[in-house]
Amino acid sequence: MAEKERLLSQIPAVHLVAEELAQRHPGHPAVFYTRAARRATEGLRREILAGRLRELSAEIVHRVAEESLEEVLRPSLCPVLNATGVVVHTNLGRAPLAEEALEAILSVARGYSNLEYRLSEGRRGSRYEHVEGLLRELTGAEAALVVNNNAAAVLITLNTLARGKEVVVSRGELVEIGGSFRMPEVMAWAGCRLREVGTTNRTHLRDYEEAINEETALLMKVHKSNYALVGFTKEVSGAELAELAHKYGLPVVEDLGSGCLVDFSRYGVRKEPTVQEIVRTGVDIVTFSGDKLLGAPQAGIIVGRRELVERIRSNPLNRALRIDKLTLAGLEATLRLYLDEGLAREHIPVLSMILMPAREVRRRALRLKRMLSRAGLPGFSFRVVPTVCRTGGGALPLADLPSFAVAVESDRLSPEELHARLRTTEPPVVGRIEEERFLLEVRTLFPEDFPLVVRALKQVASHV
Ligand SMILES: *Cc1c(COP(=O)(O)O)cnc(C)c1O
Repeated sequence: MAEKERLLSQIPAVHLVAEELAQRHPGHPAVFYTRAARRATEGLRREILAGRLRELSAEIVHRVAEESLEEVLRPSLCPVLNATGVVVHTNLGRAPLAEEALEAILSVARGYSNLEYRLSEGRRGSRYEHVEGLLRELTGAEAALVVNNNAAAVLITLNTLARGKEVVVSRGELVEIGGSFRMPEVMAWAGCRLREVGTTNRTHLRDYEEAINEETALLMKVHKSNYALVGFTKEVSGAELAELAHKYGLPVVEDLGSGCLVDFSRYGVRKEPTVQEIVRTGVDIVTFSGDKLLGAPQAGIIVGRRELVERIRSNPLNRALRIDKLTLAGLEATLRLYLDEGLAREHIPVLSMILMPAREVRRRALRLKRMLSRAGLPGFSFRVVPTVCRTGGGALPLADLPSFAVAVESDRLSPEELHARLRTTEPPVVGRIEEERFLLEVRTLFPEDFPLVVRALKQVASHV
């Protein structure tokens, strides 16, 4: 105890630590030095009391103070390295953007733009014009509209077309996507009444037909994004539903969720229905996300029959849900890449990651392993292991992407401890633990991330 008391008394005063930081790393507002100093001295106190720190030197204090300064200077929202293998990771910001999208966002953000101005005529234009033509061309739909996100797209579509009336949906499709988006609740907020038909596993065309009455506004189909029904099941296709609905003069709305424009099966990956195919089935409105399989910024895209899209566009809710200019710039640039599928596959990170063949992932994993092995990290060992990745973001729930990861083992740290420390490096690394192993999945890391991963492990290794 006396030993701990002695060490505690050696911790310098907060203002002294702060002054030293300010001298060594000038140029920041004073409050950050004080914050870092307080954080550092508290951390040292905790370590001493827990018996993990048995000597205190000026160097140790400096090092801890510098780390604290780095932490307090880092913005709350910051880049992380995604070594989880989940390509569209909702908690890690979903889609990383193509270089072209970033450039477009930057150039529009920096100054003024023709967001709602027709340069050729010198008068007011509409922000939607910048992407509507592209969306029509790429999906084959008559008209298109973009809003803040897909939840907003579903909300405004239902509110416009079905407020105060009934929407017929199969019980097997009343989905919840990530906690806050539950189809029945969205319907309630949109002001329409849910008319559930069929059973959880089987819904027939006649179930829909029997539910149609004078209160019916539309028939709805929801893509089973994050789950699959297997076994004794029956679902009605969009085409059958469209035929039935049109017989009664009603529209069909399909919430596609992930919204893919490329046929993955051509590249050996399990197929996700494409937007073009859904449009061709005769469904009247299709909604999907910008930042899932499309690989664009967060947005909700609505495509379909002109008259219906026009009605949705004029809904006053659209003002509240409208897309901003940065998103629009990034979306337009991403959509342009889709005009050439090869370009899209190469330049849109979400597509390159999903479509990357396992042998290429393995090659990269071997390279990362080599870099780590050569970095001189005593007590750590690295192995390339086969794994299975997920697309994520509610896409391809059953499609596994065969992959490779670098398994990292430490003779001092448990996989959980290792993961916890990597989450505090600069930049933080988020990986995955499977079967008591800590894995760095390579599919979701950019090659430029590799040196940063090595540096992060060096940071961790220097502290054990
Ligand atoms: C993801 C998803 C949504 C919500 O989309 P956001 O872009 O997250 O708002 C809605 N419906 C389905 C089927 C989805 O997969």
